[in-house]
Amino acid sequence: MKILTTVGEMQAACRSLRRAGTLGLVPTMGALHDGHLSLVRRAKAENDAVVVSIFVNPTQFAPGEDFETYPRRMAEDCAKLEAEGVAVLFAPSVEQMYPQGATTLVEVAEVGDRLDGASRPGHFRGVATVVAKLFHVVDPDRAYFGQKDAAQVAVLRTMVRDLLFRVELVVCPIVREPSGLAMSSRNLKLSATEKQRALALCRALRAAARALECGKTRAEPLRAAMLRQFSGAEDVRLDYAEVVHPATLLPVADTRDGALIAVAAWVGQTRLIDNLLVENGSAASAPAACQDAEKMEAMHA
Ligand code: AMP
Repeated sequence: MKILTTVGEMQAACRSLRRAGTLGLVPTMGALHDGHLSLVRRAKAENDAVVVSIFVNPTQFAPGEDFETYPRRMAEDCAKLEAEGVAVLFAPSVEQMYPQGATTLVEVAEVGDRLDGASRPGHFRGVATVVAKLFHVVDPDRAYFGQKDAAQVAVLRTMVRDLLFRVELVVCPIVREPSGLAMSSRNLKLSATEKQRALALCRALRAAARALECGKTRAEPLRAAMLRQFSGAEDVRLDYAEVVHPATLLPVADTRDGALIAVAAWVGQTRLIDNLLVENGSAASAPAACQDAEKMEAMHA
């Protein structure tokens, strides 16, 4: 695996990979887990070559957020990507991605201000800006993103449409830990107790899925079922629990025509997100179980 750090080298490498066949891109911020690797594997299966980027993008973090403390695991990440047969890892510096004096930003209005965009103003401007740059550098045929970041998917789909990018976006299902917790690099920041508390998110989604199974299709009882899981959850602060249209991220009153059920919550100092899609009136992707870590360990002992 080649590890490239400059835009010039990466553009040249991608040009030659594209001449040989199709090229898939997996953008990440590193501290790679099986969720990221599921994207890499899908990209490998669908393209002649795969490039991965690791870049902790400062412009998507507001002052006071966790840019400095975001987990960084470059050596382990390289070993994992090497084992997956990735052709090139792009690991640029901030100066490479943001040339001195850079003032151009990509703002996806409206969609970019909803869900996480509402809780983290400016977040999706940073995401859209860096992903647009990566698309310019790599010019991939396909780019792979996780359903875990459902609002990000809606924002990037809008950007690709509006800015006439030729890339095809491929969205991959959420990969979970055995407990049901959605995998996230930020899980590395959780203590064992916090990991158990974090199960409130997938329990809320399970509760919504159960309500759907009972024939409740309207948003309000689904939201109420989710909120009940957070009431009294120790050291867990709900940010949002919403039922929205998966493309516009606007609230929907009923899920019969499809919906995204999304939650975000603070567990201690760490903000986590999770979601499930409703298709044809039922949960297309609900977590199978949300069991606390001790129970899981006892089961596996
Ligand atoms: P990140 O490094 O957190 O920016 O994530 C890079 C990509 O991996 C994004 O497209 C994420 O949506 C995706 N991803 C992160 N966690 C998961 C997960 N648990 N399952 C599937 N995809 C994920």
